[in-house]
Formats: sequence, C-alpha cells, structure tokens
Amino acid sequence: MSRYREPICRLCRVEKTKLFLKGDKCLSDKCPVERRAYPPGQHGRARRRVLGYGLQLREKQKMKRFYGMSEKQFHLFFVRAEGQKGVTGETLLQMLERRLDNVLFIAGYAQSRAHARQLVCHGHVQVNDRRVGVPSAMVKGGDQVSFRVRSIKSEDLRAVADAHAGKTVPSWLEVDRPELKVRVASLPTRADVTLPVEEHMVVELYSK
Ligand code: ZN
Repeated sequence: MSRYREPICRLCRVEKTKLFLKGDKCLSDKCPVERRAYPPGQHGRARRRVLGYGLQLREKQKMKRFYGMSEKQFHLFFVRAEGQKGVTGETLLQMLERRLDNVLFIAGYAQSRAHARQLVCHGHVQVNDRRVGVPSAMVKGGDQVSFRVRSIKSEDLRAVADAHAGKTVPSWLEVDRPELKVRVASLPTRADVTLPVEEHMVVELYSK
C-alpha cells in the first residue's frame, strides 16, 4: 500500500478544504489554507476552470483523504454502499462516519483520524469490551467504544480527552468523558457529516 509522505496540510490546499489530517492544526492559522488559499505547485495560482470529471475527481479525493483511506479501501466502501438500499452517496458518507477511527476522533479521544487509526491498530481500543484492531470496522447502534485499562495510562489518553473536552460532539454519539467511553446512541445522518462535499459527484465518478 502506498502512503502519502508530503507535508500533510498541503492536501488542505489541494482540496481547498480543511481536512483535519493533523487534528487541531487546521483550526489554527497554521493551516496553509489560511495563508495560501490556492492549490500548491507551479500552476496553483493559474485560473483554471475545473469541470466534469475534474470536479468529480476533486470531490472523491477530498472525501477519501478526509477519512484517510486508500483508493482500494475507499472503492470497497463505495461498492458496499452501492449494494444497499437508499441514496448511494448518503449511504457511503454514513458508512464512513461509522468507522471506528472516525468515532474516536469526533468523540475527542484522538488528536486526528490518523492518531485514532494508530490507537486501534496498536490494540488499545475495545468495542463492547472486546478488542478490535481494525480501524475501518463500522460501529452499530448501541455499541460501546472504550479503551483497555492499561492503554489509558500508557498512551496518556486522559490528556488527549481533556484537551478536546470542549469539542462539539454530534448527537448520535454519547460521550462519557470521565470513563473515556463513547456509546453509539443512533446511526449518523447526512446532517452529521461535517465535511463539505457533494457526494453525488463521487457516485457519478464511479458510475462511469
Ligand atoms: Zn490543514
């Protein structure tokens, strides 16, 4: 699997959207979208009209990068969304929101989605008191997400949670901050998705 190794907020400039790949950095004026609100590279400032395929590609890349996924895995999610009832684009976004790493991040228990993924991969995270090591695992209604007791100390998770205590958490998640737990009260709706994205364009792109 290939991994992106360039400066990370450069991607915010590519997508002209704060992607929160480094967590709080995008909230500060250190995110280069603030200072250089044009795509990186020699032709970044050239006025270009992006149409058709180009627009669809940008929306897809933005969504994929926001959730930190590879093309292969992202496409797999799309295929699964397509196989379900309802509007494919919305289903896809709901599935992405339900990823275990995303849940940890929006609950305020990780610095970024990348940090959340690492916590899951390193075996610190439990769903319904059973260890789950797959960051792309999707939570279900009623699930209880927590950390292993010894991980709370070793990873200094209390400090991370305290630093994000003021974070607004969507109503589909019930955060028990003192216990470092989060319960999935209901499934997310389209309105719970914070990324500004036109998901129908992603569907159009893959439907060609
Ligand atoms: Zn940024």
